[in-house]
Amino acid sequence: MPFSVYHLTMHGTLYLVATPIGNLQDISFRALEILKTVDLIACEDTRHTRKLLTHFQFSNKLISYHEHNEADRAEELARLLEDGKNIAVVSDAGTPAICDPSFRIVRKAHEIGARVVPIPGAVAFVNAAIVSGLATDSIFFGGFLPSKKGERRNRLEEVKQIPATLVFYESPHRLAKSLADCAEVLGDRNAAVARELTKLHEEIVPGKLKELAAKYAEKPAKGEIVLVIERQTISRETASSEHESLSSLVAELEKQGFDHKIALKKAAKEFGMSKSEAYRILLSEKK
Ligand code: SAM
Repeated sequence: MPFSVYHLTMHGTLYLVATPIGNLQDISFRALEILKTVDLIACEDTRHTRKLLTHFQFSNKLISYHEHNEADRAEELARLLEDGKNIAVVSDAGTPAICDPSFRIVRKAHEIGARVVPIPGAVAFVNAAIVSGLATDSIFFGGFLPSKKGERRNRLEEVKQIPATLVFYESPHRLAKSLADCAEVLGDRNAAVARELTKLHEEIVPGKLKELAAKYAEKPAKGEIVLVIERQTISRETASSEHESLSSLVAELEKQGFDHKIALKKAAKEFGMSKSEAYRILLSEKK
């Protein structure tokens, strides 16, 4: 470890340890080593984490840390770090601090000057995105969509124009309704439903939003779900108006002395699109 402020303190280290999202083989050697050797494991559900440790034939001290006690627990865990205890934080599944309150203990650890270390592993939304067949050069992760229809539609309006593949966690009983709202608000985009990743009934279902909404309305989904939605596609009309401003920006940048490649890259960034997409728009208009 390079020389740092951590050498000056006797604080313990806070490890954010990823655990499997289904298949127990997906835990890393390093994660197991850390979970065995820390002084304490803070977890969402002690029974759940106890089972994981038992599967790998070891045990350790567990303390619950979840949305109902996180404020008090974060203080308590910070005091233990100050006393030199090493602590691992795990969630029920996947990477802690993704859609759970662990960020508070991380923030506290930074405040007291303790070292914070990620132990990487499974995370559901990344794995859903990579098997969706949709572009992954830019991904917007929106956590859970709101459960109330009005709020959900407002959220979808907010993210509609984000130039990225959109990814959401969703509960099985809301899936069909959410898909229908997505189709209405975002348009009938390509999408994929990733269900029960790494588990026995793993399923990746690509399709148009409307088609998926109908499918899951007829036969509701079960299990854990990630919804992946294609970014807004640029229609021919939009493309031609984009072209005018894109090409004029490219021309402007070239005038300023940038060569064509750099000008295109800068203009694409300005428009929130990839270089290849900007290139495609310019090319299609030339034709
Ligand atoms: N910390 C987790 C992670 O790293 O992805 C996410 C926790 S979040 C509270 C739980 C949600 O993640 C589930 O409701 C589901 O949407 C998604 N999820 C977790 N495991 C999954 C799996 N095996 N397949 C599909 N989605 C999963």
